[in-house]
Amino acid sequence: MTNLEEHFDLAVVGAGVVGLAHALAAARLGKRVVIIDRDAQANGASVRNFGFVTVTGQARGEVWRRARRSARVWNEIAGPAGIEVLQRGLTMIARRPEAKAVLEAFLETEMAEGCAWRDADDLGDRLPGQGGVLGGLTSQVDLRVESRTAIPRLAAWLAAAHGVVFLRGVAVHGVETGRLETSAGLIRADAIVVCPGDDLVTLFPDRFARAEVTRCKLQMLRLADPGWRLPAPVMSDLGLVRYLGYADLPQAAALRARLEAEQGAHLEHGVHLIVVQSADGSLVVGDSHHYAATPDPFARDDVDALILDEFVQVFGQTPPPVLERWTGTYASAAGHSLVEAPLPDVRLVTVTSGTGASTAFGLAEDVIADLYDLPQGAIA
Ligand SMILES: Cc1cc2nc3c(=O)[nH]c(=O)nc-3n(C[C@H](O)[C@H](O)[C@H](O)COP(=O)(O)OP(=O)(O)OC[C@H]3O[C@@H](n4cnc5c(N)ncnc54)[C@H](O)[C@@H]3O)c2cc1C
Repeated sequence: MTNLEEHFDLAVVGAGVVGLAHALAAARLGKRVVIIDRDAQANGASVRNFGFVTVTGQARGEVWRRARRSARVWNEIAGPAGIEVLQRGLTMIARRPEAKAVLEAFLETEMAEGCAWRDADDLGDRLPGQGGVLGGLTSQVDLRVESRTAIPRLAAWLAAAHGVVFLRGVAVHGVETGRLETSAGLIRADAIVVCPGDDLVTLFPDRFARAEVTRCKLQMLRLADPGWRLPAPVMSDLGLVRYLGYADLPQAAALRARLEAEQGAHLEHGVHLIVVQSADGSLVVGDSHHYAATPDPFARDDVDALILDEFVQVFGQTPPPVLERWTGTYASAAGHSLVEAPLPDVRLVTVTSGTGASTAFGLAEDVIADLYDLPQGAIA
């Protein structure tokens, strides 16, 4: 039984990957941490995603640095927390010469560390049953975990190994410096980090409104085991105009123009292809992007058909049967994340770019270092 009279060093609102990452960074400094979440178990974006910790293709500069750091943290904690790394690296397919040109330009940048180009006939171990691909970029640094088990295991490990206290089924209604008003009563903490995911209206709604944060809905599918194994997640041309590490390169303009001509419906629904594989051989395949303050919860069959169409183009075969369909939402705005200090010793942190699994640990180390007046990199 948790004693709500206890005074904590740090209270974190939200037990998604962003909140857990802040708890880890603070616990590594020896802080006594409580995490408060209104849900009885993880139910937000952090358990609905691909579990794809993507470094290659993240926006150049700070986001890429945070992604690299986050991948290292995932690697450090996976063993102790009992989290299996199911796939490593990335296979970024090029179906068109314009896509190959983007990847060739990317390979000239500092972000291409550990990456190489492979022609189609040299991709056999990475891409079973190719459907007309020119080749692809292979990377080593990315990794994939099964989020729906990894997030609960990360939370259990934070409690067992770092003494982090979890208050679940408790909603936070208000935050002031040093105190939180919750559905279970008053909780006191010297510092507070609010990581509410895409709840943009309960705590500090003015901050989200000012930053024009909205929400993005994604459609996801799980397909039956196709009978082959993917050592690394697979993406394709459509991803090259979404992921800013590629999309910001000048060569992406020609690819975008060709995609607009050839795959206008895919672009209209924000469809691109990510295929990852689970331990039982099933494939998690997505996704789409629709934006609204309150997105509807319905998965459209025509949008799923666009996702599966790109699957056919890349793998050259009929997709296996669909086992599951779900939607997820995340906070979305122009930049990678919203980090604000609305009150003394209070931080508001939301990843606004659909990259929280990939960047949360690096972001959290920066936020916690700033909160405790430590130099950047002090927690690493
Ligand atoms: C379908 C999908 C696929 C994605 N794929 C990837 C991917 O492969 N790689 C990647 O890097 N990113 C991916 N993302 C993005 C990533 O999942 C998110 O950026 C990340 O999970 C956000 O984490 P979070 O902790 O902020 O949010 P959440 O996981 O949503 O957690 C927020 C938590 O805060 C709690 N909360 C909010 N307000 C309160 C309150 N007032 N009181 C108490 N509790 C509160 C909620 O209950 C919730 O548990 C994907 C997202 C989706 C939806």
